[in-house]
Amino acid sequence: MGTLLVRNARVLVTMDDARREIARGEMLVRDGFIEAVGETNSLSPQADEIVDLGGHIVLPGLINTHHHLYQSLDRAWPASQDKSLTEWLRGLYPRWEKLTPETIARAVELGLAEIVLSGCTTVADHQYLWPKGLAASALFDIAARFGIRFHLGRGSQNLGRAQGGFAPEALVEETEHILAGTADLIARFHDARPGSFRQVFVAPSSLRSATAELMRASAQLAEEKRVQLHFHLGETAGEIDFALQNYGKRPVQVAQELGCLTPQTWLAHGVHFNPDDVAILRRCGCGICHCPSSNMRLGSGIAPVRHYLDQAITVGLGVDGSASNDSSNLLCEIRTAVLLSRVAAENDTSFLGARAVLEMATRNGAKLLGRNDIGRLAPGCAADFIAIDSGRIEIAGSDDPVAALAFCALTRVNHSWVHGNRIVSDGRLVGVNLKNLIERVCSDSRPDR
Ligand SMILES: [Zn+2]
Repeated sequence: MGTLLVRNARVLVTMDDARREIARGEMLVRDGFIEAVGETNSLSPQADEIVDLGGHIVLPGLINTHHHLYQSLDRAWPASQDKSLTEWLRGLYPRWEKLTPETIARAVELGLAEIVLSGCTTVADHQYLWPKGLAASALFDIAARFGIRFHLGRGSQNLGRAQGGFAPEALVEETEHILAGTADLIARFHDARPGSFRQVFVAPSSLRSATAELMRASAQLAEEKRVQLHFHLGETAGEIDFALQNYGKRPVQVAQELGCLTPQTWLAHGVHFNPDDVAILRRCGCGICHCPSSNMRLGSGIAPVRHYLDQAITVGLGVDGSASNDSSNLLCEIRTAVLLSRVAAENDTSFLGARAVLEMATRNGAKLLGRNDIGRLAPGCAADFIAIDSGRIEIAGSDDPVAALAFCALTRVNHSWVHGNRIVSDGRLVGVNLKNLIERVCSDSRPDR
């Protein structure tokens, strides 16, 4: 791959341990990994490729830690527009019952195109519906075409509607089949090496759609295979009622007793945790993915993220699926997180600062995914980085362009690199014709349209 020298950035936000922001920063990349960062003219000027990023803010590539890409063709679905979680699901399942490997592939393509343009360089996809014939290899191949790092959550549900869950029987799987399928995906696709593009995590959907047996076995499998464990927890108050009724305990306590809360675990949402729950999560060392747009859209509540961070719980950021966001845009999610933290705040100690949220979307996201090779611009890390022109109308006029990234309404980055390869250039996908892609993935009408 050779060497790449990035020069002259207006500010290079490293997210390293000292959180250095280097004015007129530069960075040397060799074979996809960062060799050095410093001020411009401090590194050797010899490189195979030199990129001048004068006027640009450079950050680590954004990391999305909760998505359901299969929902990308379900935006603003009429039956679920004005519903909270349970009714929202009820409105969508008749549609999801008709999902095929082809419709899922098209949705994944659309969702990835959008999220890559927003500066995302690593995405964790919680895929909990596995219609007959859906192959993980197809999903990894689509991600490879965009050049993005792809973490596939082998999601699962074994509690159907008849047992108090949400899914129709056709979308519920047998426990043994789920576990064997997950182990198989890990064996075939999980690459734990530095700079990995393909990883697999174990992802039962939630306590309301997976039995205690499946939750426990999933945690054991993740531990045995040394991969991450992920599921929805604390999204709605309804889950608390469910757990009290079915287990006689709060959801966090149930998850803990099933062995599901470990340092390899990260949870989606975390809106409804009481002080005892938070103490357990902190003790267990698991992290949380904050999905502010989805929580607002479904009226789920406001996750007290500042409080979690103050308790030394790692919090990352996720867009959640497009049936409940309805965008796959991490830049939007950053701004929403900053603003939402202030809506229910009793005082300004609850506010999330711009830099705290940028850290959630980069460095913290890497931690949730169990990686120390991404999320920072530091020697040894993979060269995943984004550049935004500080002269753009959306952020022009700020003396603090780094904070402006989070406070102002940005939707696209100017440039993005993964492993030293450019995947977005001048706000466009590299090697992908977006107009053709949209026409192709959206033209074939869905069966129940
Ligand atoms: Zn979700």
